[in-house]
Amino acid sequence: MILNKLTNYLKANNYQLTFTPGKQFYWSPETKEIFYDQNHQDQKSDWSLLHETGHALLNHTIYKNDFHLLSLEVTAWEKAKDIAHDLKIIIDQNHIEDCLDTYRDWLAKRSTCPVCNIKSLQQTDFINYRCFNCHSIWKVTPSRFCRPYRSVII
Ligand SMILES: [Zn+2]
Ligand SMILES: [Zn+2]
Repeated sequence: MILNKLTNYLKANNYQLTFTPGKQFYWSPETKEIFYDQNHQDQKSDWSLLHETGHALLNHTIYKNDFHLLSLEVTAWEKAKDIAHDLKIIIDQNHIEDCLDTYRDWLAKRSTCPVCNIKSLQQTDFINYRCFNCHSIWKVTPSRFCRPYRSVII
């Protein structure tokens, strides 16, 4: 795992982040902690660690709606690639696309009108979508800041 390399890099660049072992990879803006899954120590785990660090360094705290969340995901991966470059690591672009696809699929499901099946782009707030076609309003469960990539909860 690149954890040591990464913490040294962050220290050298004056970033104050805490890495805490946990059950999955995610960034907690409240405590400025990055949780990581200590049971998985493969290459993809390194990439997840870099991705969460991307969120942290970009100070991602809140998102306005699902579409905003997707854009934060994209920028977190861009930042992860910058850090990876400095650490002389290459993140497979296919992996990034796969991760983003899980968000895109999830987003598509949430934003499809349960009445007429048309995709709606109008999310009025965190939990309400409104269909531009039949004007139905439906609720979705508020999403967490960062969904685990490993599990499929759709
Ligand atoms: Zn509709
Ligand atoms: Zn993320």
